[in-house]
Amino acid sequence: MLEICGVPFGGQSVPIIAGPCSVESESQLEAIAAALHEMDIPFLRGGLYKLRTNPDSFQGLGEDGFSIAKKISEKFNMPFTTEITDIRQIEKLHEVASIFQVGTRNMYNYDLLKELGKSPKPVLLKRAFSATYSEFLNAAEYIIAAGNENVILCERGIRTFVRETRNTFDINAIPFLKQKSGLPIVADPSHGTGLTSLVEPVALAALAAGADGLLIEVHNEPSKALSDGQQALTPVQFKSLIDKAELILKASGRELHGRA
Ligand code: PEP
Ligand code: MN
Repeated sequence: MLEICGVPFGGQSVPIIAGPCSVESESQLEAIAAALHEMDIPFLRGGLYKLRTNPDSFQGLGEDGFSIAKKISEKFNMPFTTEITDIRQIEKLHEVASIFQVGTRNMYNYDLLKELGKSPKPVLLKRAFSATYSEFLNAAEYIIAAGNENVILCERGIRTFVRETRNTFDINAIPFLKQKSGLPIVADPSHGTGLTSLVEPVALAALAAGADGLLIEVHNEPSKALSDGQQALTPVQFKSLIDKAELILKASGRELHGRA
């Protein structure tokens, strides 16, 4: 079991990481964090460096967003998770993030993984959308072999022949990778489906399959989001999800962190 800022991952109590795809402004992050804090959600997420498929899309606030993230995460006492896209960001992001996220496009960036292995900072490693289980576990092993055992796997959907959803959430990955690696695994049904209306049902399925946590994109005004608005939940939709998650977890002898 792994403990991050006093919150266990991989035990009976299941934590949730939630927040916007991208940090857009102080008022946006504050509104979202306030709603999540009200629901006792332990971790806040938000992208500062965005790796977008289209170079014309919003690329994130970068360093301009560091002070916003730090201020809001401290204000609500919610440790912050953000994606790291380059080795050169590691030192500065140390102050801002309690968990470093490695995104799907960087799972094969072995230099980045090796560098992240040199410090004990927890790493949330997302599965590349084309990665086999063994490629995914090898990527985790790069971090562990370099000295950092604080790795959380994240299933975020893979590319299949299905065109109606952004990705196909691979439910098999949850029990398989848990059994095979013993590492905690978090489910990201936001990217796994790409559609707001599918996030809740797939999140619940992932918990029923044994996921050790959820990563959920929440936005106060999804229609105005600068990235991934089509898969964001409003705080009201998110509340519905966690209320049901609580019931599913109870049925399997577990509990939602912060709601014991
Ligand atoms: C994200 O979490 O916002 C993200 C970009 O995820 P992924 O790397 O899985 O696409
Ligand atoms: Mn996103």
